[in-house]
Amino acid sequence: MTPIIEIRDLSFTYENGVEALCGVNLTIGEGETVVFIGPNGAGKSTLLLMMRGLLGKLDGRIRIAGERLDHPGQVEALAGRIGLVFQNPEDQLFCPTVFDDVAFGPMNMGVAPERVRERVTAALRAVGLAGYEERVPHQLSGGEKRRVSLATIYAMEPDILLLDEPTSHLDPHARQEVIALIQQFPGTRVIATHDFELILKVAERVVLFHKGRIKADGCPIEVLTDEALLKENGMEMPLVVRYLMALHSGEVEALHEHEHEHIYHYHTHEGKRTERSVRHSHIHSHDHDVDHTHGHETES
Ligand code: ADP
Ligand code: MG
Repeated sequence: MTPIIEIRDLSFTYENGVEALCGVNLTIGEGETVVFIGPNGAGKSTLLLMMRGLLGKLDGRIRIAGERLDHPGQVEALAGRIGLVFQNPEDQLFCPTVFDDVAFGPMNMGVAPERVRERVTAALRAVGLAGYEERVPHQLSGGEKRRVSLATIYAMEPDILLLDEPTSHLDPHARQEVIALIQQFPGTRVIATHDFELILKVAERVVLFHKGRIKADGCPIEVLTDEALLKENGMEMPLVVRYLMALHSGEVEALHEHEHEHIYHYHTHEGKRTERSVRHSHIHSHDHDVDHTHGHETES
């Protein structure tokens, strides 16, 4: 594994005295996909900002592709190689048009104007927003804003993509689209997230942060199934992982879902039970051992 990000003894204290990172050591290999997890305030965003050179003077050492990230000129020089998509698209998009926002990075890197136009077109196409050049960023939907944010970084053609909670506040469809875009990015990916579907789909390695320190670093399934470790560090084992473990141990039988019929059933809504005794078909999850008629079967 060729290291592309090397962090040694990194600490960071904000001006108000909050110690956000404390003695962090981390090496990320070229092409790796690493996910940062940990409760709110653990230091994940701070570390992403530091990897992009956006926070003050370094206490410790960061090397990106072998270059030390310790003075503004170096940060500038690496801007095209490492891109950060902020948690909040409002922090990323500040221009009057989508074109200007996506063109901003490559223009600052000194790319020739005709090449900038090509890059903007390609980046918008890559995120499924071809033709959005003249749209006004702040009028877009949450999902579109997130995709434009990704395009602003794609247009710089970075080797390393840093993503801060890329699927937060998105509806399920927009979330799936963003996950698919992240999966398509070919370079090194470092993602801070609470989204376990995203983790299970992309992570090769999970790093658990708590109170500014790394508490675990390993394969996703090992970290996510260690209930004691998660609890100790302010995390809950995700329901889906808990369920899969119970399934594996034979504690529960698989739930499944399909259309089926009952003559009698009830639903509970906000504590109130509504009963029905009319034969009808409907869909909900249930255990295999529930005695029921399948929807596609006919009864004489
Ligand atoms: P995470 O992304 O894991 O939720 P952060 O890196 O945002 O954690 O925050 C780490 C700690 O630093 C928290 O205690 C947070 O309150 C504090 N912090 C974050 N940003 C700032 C800031 N701009 N000024 C002061 N303290 C901050
Ligand atoms: Mg954060």
